[in-house]
Amino acid sequence: MSDTQVQKLLLGHGHFKRDYFRSEADLFASLAGGVHEPKALVISCCDARVVPDVILQADPGDLFVVRNIAALIPPYGKGHHRAVGAAIEYAIMGLKVQHVIVCGHTQCGGLRALADGPVRLAAHMPSLAEWLADAEDLYAKVRTTMKDASDDELVSHLAYESVPVQLENLLTYPAVNWALERGRLELHGWVYDLNTGGLKAYQPDNNVFVELEDDGRPSLMAPSPFGE
Ligand SMILES: [Zn+2]
Repeated sequence: MSDTQVQKLLLGHGHFKRDYFRSEADLFASLAGGVHEPKALVISCCDARVVPDVILQADPGDLFVVRNIAALIPPYGKGHHRAVGAAIEYAIMGLKVQHVIVCGHTQCGGLRALADGPVRLAAHMPSLAEWLADAEDLYAKVRTTMKDASDDELVSHLAYESVPVQLENLLTYPAVNWALERGRLELHGWVYDLNTGGLKAYQPDNNVFVELEDDGRPSLMAPSPFGE
């Protein structure tokens, strides 16, 4: 990052402190006073173009956010990736959030990296290769069913295939099941479309994604099984 780029960020912070922080003084005083009652845990991708707080127009304090490459949720107790599990447990048991949102997105570079294959990835990005290992089965399944698809088509499709799998992985966490059994937790699976700015929501009963209208309700248009 060049000095100019850093300077742009620092000027942005100056703007935040001078204008936003002051105009929302009561909110920030409340947060600084110890109020930490987020409305939802959001698990989304690191992608700089997909910013949950911006997409959802949330205020500071509204969202407890975990971002990782491709918005993956490792199954409970598997591997060494404890950061996601720690956040899930704390959000549900500590902060008592009532909603967990898994938010994937179109044009996901993490999902695209799967197409490179673990061996090739491991040569220069071994940590990324290890992280994506959990998603290799998913990629192989989609590749098999879409033999003639281009990489772009495959990546687009993977975004919609991945979210239900991550929701299934959520169910491997005792804390999630504990809260679900008590009726104090709802799970949501969304895909954010970079082209339209829209969200599609997964409907597990029908195994389809449905566009969300501006008021948050599902579109009445016929849903697509692939969300496209
Ligand atoms: Zn991504």
